[in-house]
Amino acid sequence: MRAAVYQSAGEVVVEDVPDAALREPTDAIVRVVRACICGSDLWAYRGIIDRPPGSRLGHEFIGVVEQVGDDIRTVRAGDFVVAPFQWSDNTCPACRDGIQTRCEHGGTFGAPGTEGGQGEAVRVPEADGTLVVVPVSGSGPHGVDPALYPSLLALSDVAATGLHGAVLSGASEGSTVAVIGDGAVGLCAVLGATKVLGAEQVILMSRHPDRAAIGKEFGATDIVPERGEEGIERVRELTGGLGVRHVVEAVGTPDAWDMAIGMTRAGGRIGAVGVPHTTPQLGIFTPFRQHLTLSFGVAPVRHYLPDLLGRVLADGYDPGRVFDLSLPLERVDEGYSAMSERRSIKTMLEP
Ligand SMILES: [Zn+2]
Repeated sequence: MRAAVYQSAGEVVVEDVPDAALREPTDAIVRVVRACICGSDLWAYRGIIDRPPGSRLGHEFIGVVEQVGDDIRTVRAGDFVVAPFQWSDNTCPACRDGIQTRCEHGGTFGAPGTEGGQGEAVRVPEADGTLVVVPVSGSGPHGVDPALYPSLLALSDVAATGLHGAVLSGASEGSTVAVIGDGAVGLCAVLGATKVLGAEQVILMSRHPDRAAIGKEFGATDIVPERGEEGIERVRELTGGLGVRHVVEAVGTPDAWDMAIGMTRAGGRIGAVGVPHTTPQLGIFTPFRQHLTLSFGVAPVRHYLPDLLGRVLADGYDPGRVFDLSLPLERVDEGYSAMSERRSIKTMLEP
C-alpha cells in the first residue's frame, strides 16, 4: 500500500509500505477515505523538532472498517468510522476520567514507530475504545454523504482540540473569550466557544483575512490583527480595560503565551492546546500575581467525539470549513509546503 513517509525537514514522500495487518485481537484495519495534514505535522517538516527518517505520518483520518480482530465488539467490517488522533481503550482510569490521551493502553497515530493516517489503510489498536461509527445516512459510496467528509475528518483532531481549549478556558453561556491562533485549531475554538458553549463575545487574534473570514463565520465578534503588547492593548480596549476572563492559547510559542497572560483579566483562565515545543520555560510570576488559572493538555478527542458527531449530522456543525485545499495522497508534499508557507489553512488528502 501507499503511504506518506517523512524523509527529512522539508521532504515528505509517498512510497510503498507494508500493508496494514491485524496484530492483536483488539485491532481493526481501516481503509482510509480521507486524511489530512495537521499544524503539528509541520514542527518536524520545518525542522523545529527531530523526527526519524522513514517514519510514517498523519494522525487524522476517516475511513471504512475492513477487518476486525477476534475481540472487537463495537465495530464491524463496512462501518464508516472517525478515528481520534490517539487510540485508547476507553475503559482505564484515565479514560474514565475523560483524559483518553493519557490512556494506559493508548498511543498516537503517526508517532515514530506507529502507522500513520496519511496512507491507504491504518491498523487501529484498541479499536473498540477508539473508533466512533458514523451512522449510515443514505447517499454516498459508503452510506455517508461525501459533503460531510470534511467536517467528519475535522472531528479526528482540530474540531475537538479547539473545543477543548475553549472548555479549559472555562467559557460558558454568555462568556467573553479571546482566541490566540487563527489556524484550524484556533478557528475551531471559536466555533466550539460560540456554538457548543454559548459564548457571546469572541475575539479572534488574526492577521490573515482568509482565516479571519472563517473565524467570523464561526461566530467571532471581533478580529484583532495586532500582536504582542499592541494586541494585548487592543483586547483590553474591547473589554472595558480589564482584559478577558477566558483565553484560548492555540499556538504554543513563547509569544503566544506572553499575549495570553497579558490579556487575561485578574482571576481569569487560560485554556492552552498549542503544543509547547518551543516553550521550555514559562514565567509564573505574572499568573501568580494575577490569580490566573492555567489549564492545558493534549485534547482527549475521543471524549468529545460522540457529541460533536451528533452536531455534525443533525445541527449543521461545520468545522470542515477549515479545509481549503484538497489533494490526492500522491501529492502530499504539495500539501506540506502549502501549509508550511501558510497558503493553506488545512489540507485534505484523498488516497
Ligand atoms: Zn484508557
